[in-house]
Amino acid sequence: MRANARVLVVNSGSSSVKASILERGTERELLEALIERIGDEEAHLSLSHEGQKIERALPRADHEAAMQALVEELRKLDLLEDLSAVGHRVVHGGERFSSPVRIDEEVRAVIRELARLAPLHNPANAIGIDAAERALPELPHVAVFDTAFHQSLPRSAYLYAIPFELYETHGLRRYGFHGCSHEFVSLEAARRLGRADLNLVTVHLGNGCSAAAVSGGRSVDTTMGLTPLEGLVMGTRSGDIDPGMLPLLCELTGRDLEGVMRLLNRESGLLGVSGLSNDMRELLEARASGHERAKLAIDVFCHRLARGIMGLTAALPRLDAIIFTGGIGENSPDIRAETLARLRVLGLELDAPANLEHGRHTHGRITTKRAPTALVIPTNEELMIAQHTLETLSRSEV
Ligand code: ADP
Repeated sequence: MRANARVLVVNSGSSSVKASILERGTERELLEALIERIGDEEAHLSLSHEGQKIERALPRADHEAAMQALVEELRKLDLLEDLSAVGHRVVHGGERFSSPVRIDEEVRAVIRELARLAPLHNPANAIGIDAAERALPELPHVAVFDTAFHQSLPRSAYLYAIPFELYETHGLRRYGFHGCSHEFVSLEAARRLGRADLNLVTVHLGNGCSAAAVSGGRSVDTTMGLTPLEGLVMGTRSGDIDPGMLPLLCELTGRDLEGVMRLLNRESGLLGVSGLSNDMRELLEARASGHERAKLAIDVFCHRLARGIMGLTAALPRLDAIIFTGGIGENSPDIRAETLARLRVLGLELDAPANLEHGRHTHGRITTKRAPTALVIPTNEELMIAQHTLETLSRSEV
């Protein structure tokens, strides 16, 4: 494979496809593309490449047509010929995939089978893979799983205390997600701190939020579970609730179980508590102008996050650093400060000026002491997927 091999990274959702091109050896994205509102009259493609912006309407385009349109644009930009591979983000890899794999008939079938565990995500990933393979049949396609990084969890961390047969027979256990992000920031923390034997809690705070305990580069516990609904409070997801509430939610809202799942996935979290927005930036602004429930939503978010971080330390022999990443983790000094203030018992002392600067002048460090410390590290899931794709292919070439 060429030294400057380029990978097209594809993240296919139910109504959108994100794509980017990365080149080995650089961390730069050569191209970024987003196809939104797939299947809709308003479907469209926006693409940026070296300062150039391209917009194209794709009325009623399905995944197939969207992928064909993307490939046409890549051809026009002369970007097709230099591609070495396509790396697909796949949400659920179950217990079957603890590392990325080259996609073949069997892998495709397993991804579809796993839709049972991830009905909101895997079917859309599978449709994206099929469409991309048809549009780019001459390239190798690799699946990189969001769950794979957490396959190193010990049984004590991944088993639910429900009848064991349900795990053995149906795979009902905790899997964890956001693996590419937790892995990327763990590697970057090891690089910045110059040590591979770190004990970290990595905290990814985007629209979805999860944290992981990472020891010597291996995930040993995480807050998300069988599905991405478990754990921390998120934009529209509730995170942990008492399962005893489920029958009451059905009874009180008059909804069936599917309706209640919608309530927990789409109408809860920051949006549910604030009644205003799922967007943290908007809530911080609203709180500053006296919105009481925005304040309440932020308080619940930070309290539950601090509790989640503290819980994860039970999986570590010591704590070297907490890593903040994702849209909120990278950009909000307030959320970082309010979370760390609840973790004083761990001996973390905020360096307020460094925190306000997002840690930019301190290699990401936002605490006064060197250990335990807290760092801000921007995530790069696409880069992780591109690297895994190339590694997987060079392994299979040997
Ligand atoms: P996704 O999970 O969809 O990739 P992001 O990682 O981009 O999402 O995170 C989105 C979240 O980051 C939103 O809640 C947004 O308000 C928040 N965010 C982005 N910038 C800021 C900021 N400057 N301050 C606070 N929150 C921010």
